[in-house]
Amino acid sequence: MSPPVTFSLDADGVAWIIFDAPDARANVFNPATQTALAGCIVQVNACMARAVVVLSAKETIFIAGADLKWLAVLPDAESATAFSRTGQALFQQVVSLRIPVVCAIHGACAGGGYELALACHWRLASDAPATQIGLPEVGLGTIPGWGGSVRLPRLIGAVPALDHILRAKLLPAREALTAGLVDEVVPMAQLKERAKVAALRLAGATGLPLRPSPSVPAPNFFAELRRATVMKLRDQQPASPTVIDIVEQGAGLDLSAALEIEALAFGRVTAGEVCKNLVAVFFLRDAARKRNLDGWFEAPTGTILPIKRVGVVGAGVMGSGIAHWLAASGYEVVLRDVQPEFVERGREVVRGLFANAVKRGQFSAANADAGLSRLTTTTGWDGFESCDLVIEAIVENVAAKRQLFTELAGIVRPDALLVSNTSALPIEEIAGHVPRPERTLGLHFFNPVSRMPLVELVISRATSAESATRVLALVRALGKSPVIARSSPGFLMTRVLFFYLNAAVKLWEQGVPAAVLDGTLRDFGWPMGPLRLIDEVGVDVSDFIFHEMTHYFPARLASTSACTRLLAAGLKGRKNGMGAGFYTYVNGREAVNEAVPRPPAAGTGRPELSQAYIVDHLMGVMIDEACLCLKEGVVLSPADIDFALLSGAGFPAFRGGLMRYARSIGRIPTAGNNH
Ligand code: NAD
Repeated sequence: MSPPVTFSLDADGVAWIIFDAPDARANVFNPATQTALAGCIVQVNACMARAVVVLSAKETIFIAGADLKWLAVLPDAESATAFSRTGQALFQQVVSLRIPVVCAIHGACAGGGYELALACHWRLASDAPATQIGLPEVGLGTIPGWGGSVRLPRLIGAVPALDHILRAKLLPAREALTAGLVDEVVPMAQLKERAKVAALRLAGATGLPLRPSPSVPAPNFFAELRRATVMKLRDQQPASPTVIDIVEQGAGLDLSAALEIEALAFGRVTAGEVCKNLVAVFFLRDAARKRNLDGWFEAPTGTILPIKRVGVVGAGVMGSGIAHWLAASGYEVVLRDVQPEFVERGREVVRGLFANAVKRGQFSAANADAGLSRLTTTTGWDGFESCDLVIEAIVENVAAKRQLFTELAGIVRPDALLVSNTSALPIEEIAGHVPRPERTLGLHFFNPVSRMPLVELVISRATSAESATRVLALVRALGKSPVIARSSPGFLMTRVLFFYLNAAVKLWEQGVPAAVLDGTLRDFGWPMGPLRLIDEVGVDVSDFIFHEMTHYFPARLASTSACTRLLAAGLKGRKNGMGAGFYTYVNGREAVNEAVPRPPAAGTGRPELSQAYIVDHLMGVMIDEACLCLKEGVVLSPADIDFALLSGAGFPAFRGGLMRYARSIGRIPTAGNNH
């Protein structure tokens, strides 16, 4: 097998170091890549080259960074520090070559890939959309540890360098140029040629570029940034403050002393729990994107008919969002509601979503127009007869949904798939009675559909492997990742979340103040506390689901009546950024709503409950329910639960997932789990 990095010398004296990992889509740094690069450097030193160009032969990836499988198994801080020192030393050999080194970047150039670029003397980037550049390590709970935390501030200044590293986002080529991460952006087709020109220029009369010293930050810059960062992350994620320390401490030191600070800090954070958790989340997300139906069906299915045209019934919050995302993804869509004004409202929502996407640069105006033209609307059934699949998104009511499925079965083709977006109702109850029920299943989208990555794919007792396979292919084509759940009340997500929310409201009823309750869960890492979440979902919707859950789990979930009382007082939660529920939302400011009606026998006795108790109790309720879902076969693995709650409910990623967290605190055993 050819090595992952190769060397060649051309007739003009330019040495080409080319990254091209055999049998792989991406180049990554692993021990084999490092050895191969070191070998190339020896060859450069041994030949008569005038300059070097570093390049990738991959279509969309320059170098994606260090292999995370390698990072994940570093056992302790010492080995992580050694990992850092080895990489630093390798890149130092690049900097120290006695001839100019030019980095020609096309495709993703991330983490260690960009640290290699930083060790080169000149950086060109192709203007292709695939070219994305930067240091995203903080997003994985670690820091740039192969010189990036030291070299980037020396190149562009401490303030912009920390801004880039703390954001942990890759930049497209033009933005990377503006930020100073690269020196030139060139058309993709000219990358090699222009890199060679630059290499020969630097090797000739002009010599290596003289770069001006970047500006020095204000005296209180580091302290203020550290304070704001720690507060924002609730002091839970050490990588960000650590990188601020490195940049501050390294500023006045010579390069090797600054690199040593980086190596020691890298060791500490990379061996820590948060980094291990975030790397595990990376693998969870990757696995979810590739999720198949293994474990759900025995026989593989034959040829799968594609889905081209989709009907959506119900043009409310969810129906409009689903119709928009389908049309945006290239499907022909017909959207139905019962009144012309409801249909028109739905169309306006879709139009607004496209307009927003254009404003944010996600869609060209022409593509948005094409997307909108794929949508037709009706108050009848015109256009449903030719649909390959119909998604029902009408009110959450068994009788209404049952009747709708009966009606639909008489209109659509016998092979058309019939899918419900219900949040909680078993598919058998609402669609099990239609002829050929093997074509029925659930597809639980989350609000807002365009932004939420998760879809719960719900398999009923009747669902066939073919139907599930076709719908799974649709989920993928929509750019979503599925969690696959067995049809049962609340599936996974609604069930686990509403058991948790119910327990939280009960604590509030017993006297725990809303600010304490929600603040505690935010400190834990949730984006919002449970009472604030109820406002967001809608007090009306939540009240309805609490009753649904009590209906299905009478022995275990005694529903709180708090939401019913809020509704009676006209408090429906946050609607369109306004309204009121557990909180008020006036002029964009949120405040605990002191006018919320408490239960007649409201407790005041437990405001002193500790944060630790509140977390233990509420997370415990969630974990117990998730374990029951596993036991009952609602989902097949702890990884399914972890992924679903991370991407559908905002479970804090730095804790690695609900079940991983449960294991870390000893609430469930560690043996026998696959994640
Ligand atoms: P909604 O009240 O906003 O919209 C429902 C729409 O369905 C209304 O416009 C109504 O006129 C229409 N409708 C009712 N009967 C109809 C019929 N026979 N034919 C055509 N249209 C009909 O409701 P929503 O929030 O969009 O929820 C829809 C479904 O999605 C529910 O099952 C809900 O549980 C589920 N869901 C909602 C959310 C959410 O956050 N709102 C999230 C996931 C799933």
